[in-house]
Amino acid sequence: MDFTIKTYEKLVDTLVNADYEFITFEQYCNGIRPHKFIIMRHDVDDLAKNAVKLATIENSRGIRATYFFRIVPQSDVKEVINRIVSLNHEIGYHYEDLSIHNGNYEKAIESFKENLTYFRTYYPVKTVCMHGSSYSEYDNRLLWQKYSLQDFGLIGEPYITVDFDKVYYLTDTGYAWDGSNKYATRDIVKNRHNISFHSTNQIIDAVNSGKFPMQSMILIHTVWSDNPLHLFVNIREFVRNRVKYISRHNKFIAFLYNTAVKVYWRI
Ligand SMILES: [Zn+2]
Repeated sequence: MDFTIKTYEKLVDTLVNADYEFITFEQYCNGIRPHKFIIMRHDVDDLAKNAVKLATIENSRGIRATYFFRIVPQSDVKEVINRIVSLNHEIGYHYEDLSIHNGNYEKAIESFKENLTYFRTYYPVKTVCMHGSSYSEYDNRLLWQKYSLQDFGLIGEPYITVDFDKVYYLTDTGYAWDGSNKYATRDIVKNRHNISFHSTNQIIDAVNSGKFPMQSMILIHTVWSDNPLHLFVNIREFVRNRVKYISRHNKFIAFLYNTAVKVYWRI
């Protein structure tokens, strides 16, 4: 099975053996550019505890990754955040304030500020990253058309700061490395790299044969797992992605989906 903790371990070891250097997103924003690098980014959308497993694997190999936490209870788990900080990783805020406040910029920026201050009690947060909020008509990134990251002491937002023509973007959205065009509604990146992968083993083969890009941001959500829960999450993601896909063309389904999402995340 793909997208398990064991597969993750194999992927990380393959990259390490191929001499990729792992940098945090904050380091990238500060201009650090090794010859071959990976920015390992984890969006903690759900199953926060699972993040600790990934973080431990990385730490045992001397790797620092970047973890973006949401303000919802499924992500914002005190012990998890503290543990990940103690494992020497970067912490950032996975914001969704504009969609939570239905497009009200004043309320959104107020809550953004408050939530950022909260996450800074764990770590001196310098970077933020939007949550896709596929249920909402509001794109969280639009906040930065009206406000500036610098005013909040921030140095980067992946979808604003990274040159994805140079840095290859790879995401596991929808439990497939090539699923983002179909399933992701916002966290899509268009770039000049004409390569795509379906399974993690294909990525591993590409790294081993020197065909994997030299500079890359890999987004791995914290739902990779070896336990039976994995199957449940897989099915849920499978259903969710299909509903998401249908709701783009059907207003009634979109309404039902939006309501269900808000109840689930308690927003
Ligand atoms: Zn997210």
